[in-house]
Amino acid sequence: MPPMNAEQLRQYLEFYQDLGIKTLYRPSAGEGACATTSEQQSGTDALVCQPAPDALPALAPAGDTLIAIQNDIGDCKRCRLHEGRNKIVFGVGSERAPLVFVGEGPGADEDAQGIPFVGRAGQLLTQMIEGTAKKEGIALTREDVYICNVVKCRPPGNRTPEPDEMEVCGQFLFRQLTTIRPKAICVLGGTAARAVTGHKEGVTKLRGKWFQWRDIPVMVTYHPSYLLRPYNQDAKREAWEDLKKVLHFVYD
Ligand code: URA
Repeated sequence: MPPMNAEQLRQYLEFYQDLGIKTLYRPSAGEGACATTSEQQSGTDALVCQPAPDALPALAPAGDTLIAIQNDIGDCKRCRLHEGRNKIVFGVGSERAPLVFVGEGPGADEDAQGIPFVGRAGQLLTQMIEGTAKKEGIALTREDVYICNVVKCRPPGNRTPEPDEMEVCGQFLFRQLTTIRPKAICVLGGTAARAVTGHKEGVTKLRGKWFQWRDIPVMVTYHPSYLLRPYNQDAKREAWEDLKKVLHFVYD
């Protein structure tokens, strides 16, 4: 890749700033230091890693594809989560899915298989999607939606991803959302809700309401892991309600 001129670099940074990304990282450590660059003219203030421009992820306007994003992730070592992972869990579903579900990060089953939401919480999510759709007379299976997470590698012991891990991996989530351009996004749980909507309140405050990511409507609901706990019957009912809203919005 030839070096970028100043204008190309400005466009590059502007694109990522539009996505809410303030920090860009090199793909692997030890190839050079990161430097803070303030682009006063354009108002961008991003941390850009020097010197190799091709260390930056590909600029992703019109022609971006899920495959290109996955290639850019590569054998990612951009954050500490790579140390304990078995498989990167990129996402599953169609590039043309009108609805995207976003979870927090892979668990043990997902890490082993490389597919999001395949463990117990995943089975509940599948039941929720397909069961609600059926009851509401909407012909829909899990394969018709896209499912991914904020972070693509399993946090050790299933801990909540750290802000820096979410920021690094978030650039790939945002590229996935930009590429798919779904009619709506449904975020599962407080961590994903914070990452996508920017709102800091807990999920009980945010759930059932519409927010926006860029110009795409975002519905917040409970994470299926939370719903698996036996004493959360009210939350279960509320999650079905949230899901009904999303499904009717997208598929009516
Ligand atoms: N929990 C998540 O947030 N994502 C998964 O893929 C599985 C469990």
